[in-house]
Amino acid sequence: MRALVISDIHANLTALETVLEDAGEVDATWCLGDLVGYGPDPNECVALVQTLPNLVCLLGNHDAAAIGQLNIDTFNPEARYSIEWQQEVLEPDHQAYLQSLPTSYINEQATLVHGSPRSPVFEYLLDNQLATENFPHFSTPYCFFGHTHLPSQFYLSPDQILAKLIIPKPNTEFNLLSRTIINPGSVGQPRDRDPRASYAIFDSENKTWAYRRIRYDIAAVQARMASVNLPERHIQRLEIGW
Ligand code: ZN
Repeated sequence: MRALVISDIHANLTALETVLEDAGEVDATWCLGDLVGYGPDPNECVALVQTLPNLVCLLGNHDAAAIGQLNIDTFNPEARYSIEWQQEVLEPDHQAYLQSLPTSYINEQATLVHGSPRSPVFEYLLDNQLATENFPHFSTPYCFFGHTHLPSQFYLSPDQILAKLIIPKPNTEFNLLSRTIINPGSVGQPRDRDPRASYAIFDSENKTWAYRRIRYDIAAVQARMASVNLPERHIQRLEIGW
C-alpha cells in the first residue's frame, strides 16, 4: 500500500494541486493537519482534500483556530488578522468538516499526529531530546507528524538512548529500519529555506519513505494573497521558504 503523506497545506491550493499531480496514483492519503491558515484558498483546499482516496485527515492547530477552538488573543497582530480572515471566509460546511476531524489516528504501522504523540495538536518536535521523550507515547513502528514545517526524521533503535535526527536530502527514498518519527515537511508553507512544496510517499510493504520536493507557482499564490490583503510578511515568506 502506498500512502501519500501530506501536512501543513495552509490554504495554498496551487501547492496542493502541484503535489497531487506530482505524486500520481496512491492507495491512500494521510493528511496531518493545518489545511487552513496563512494562505488565500481555505475553502478550495478543504474541498479538494475531502476528495482524496482513502483519506485520513487530522486537525491541526490552525484548523482549531479557524473554527474558534483556540483563544487567539496572545497571537501577534498579523497572525490574528490572518486567522480572523479565515474564520470570516470559511463556508459553514467546511467549518463543519474541520470540526469533525480527529487529533490522531493509529493503524498497524503508523501513528499519525499533527504535533507529537504526547500532545497531538500543539507540541513542536524540533530536536532529538523532544523526539526521544515522545517515543514511549506511541506503540506502532512509525509516527508521522507535521506542525514544524521542517522535513525531519528521528530514529531510535533499541541500543540507543537518544534518538538520532536526520535532515533528509530532497527527492531521496529511505528504508525505515528502526522505530522512526518522521515529518514530510509542509505542502503550503515550507520553513527550511527551500520554498518548494514538500511531501512524502510511504510504502507499507517495502517500508520505504520517499521524500519529495516540487516547484509550484508561488507568484500566483502571492497575488491571490495580496488581492485579499493578507499580511505582507506572510506573502514574502513563501518565496524564501521560511
Ligand atoms: Zn502549520
